[in-house]
Amino acid sequence: MLAKAVEKGGSTLRDFSNAQGESGYFQLEAMVYDRQGEPCRVCGSPIRMIRQGARATYFCTVCQKS
Ligand SMILES: [Zn+2]
Repeated sequence: MLAKAVEKGGSTLRDFSNAQGESGYFQLEAMVYDRQGEPCRVCGSPIRMIRQGARATYFCTVCQKS
């Protein structure tokens, strides 16, 4: 589980300390993955993408507050 978080990038490690939001974080990421510019399935806001080196992270600014 921890190895998977490391794989996903440094920003995820901070989220990992919040055990309550952990499952929700991964669930949301799966819902927005590779859908940049498309409407969020939950709220309809455009999906945003951040590139961290070779890795891209997709998220909804409304549903996924950091
Ligand atoms: Zn959303």
